[in-house]
Amino acid sequence: MPELVFFSGTMDCGKSTLALQIGHNRSARGLQGVIFTRDDRAGEGKLSSRLGLVTDAVEADEDMDLYAYLVDHITRGGRADHVIVDEAQFLAPRQIDQLARIVDDLNLDVFAFGITTDFRTKLFPGSQRLIELADRIEALQVEAMCWCGARATHNARTVGGRMVVEGAQVVVGDVHHSTGDVGYEVLCRRHHRRRMTSAASHAGALSPDVLPVTPG
Ligand SMILES: [Zn+2]
Repeated sequence: MPELVFFSGTMDCGKSTLALQIGHNRSARGLQGVIFTRDDRAGEGKLSSRLGLVTDAVEADEDMDLYAYLVDHITRGGRADHVIVDEAQFLAPRQIDQLARIVDDLNLDVFAFGITTDFRTKLFPGSQRLIELADRIEALQVEAMCWCGARATHNARTVGGRMVVEGAQVVVGDVHHSTGDVGYEVLCRRHHRRRMTSAASHAGALSPDVLPVTPG
């Protein structure tokens, strides 16, 4: 049975690398998929991974009907053995419904990769809909690490180097590469709650109960 699978994780956990790997494994078996992405770090119409791999993809604009796109693609004689979606958290909830319809009505596997929660620890609407509709949810096993060494489970946004917990839900940026003033860092929940990024941990302004694992 075809499935809608949601591969979820934090930023920096290798989602795009796994998305590319799934595409590669299937194309090695002669299968050809349609790849959607939205706001990839490499620009429109690209699916890139932090490890340097990149492939062409279809930019899933806000008003694109993904089901209609697939029907049109197949009608024109295009191959579609499966569908891969990266940055699925940025999709509108109705586009997640369209993915479910691709599974049910076109009998295709859909592999969606995304971040579950934003920098305020709130679910992205697209991820919420995926959790509601997916046949299966896989927490990615390549876990990101907080600066303290604990498993990083939350995404922090920094503006001008300081962690913020208010602002627009979507401001495209990346870990290790800030876009203008906005950057991102993955943290454990403890340090997300305390708004303690790596930079803040080095600043020395620590209250006694939040000493880093390796002081100084
Ligand atoms: Zn931590």
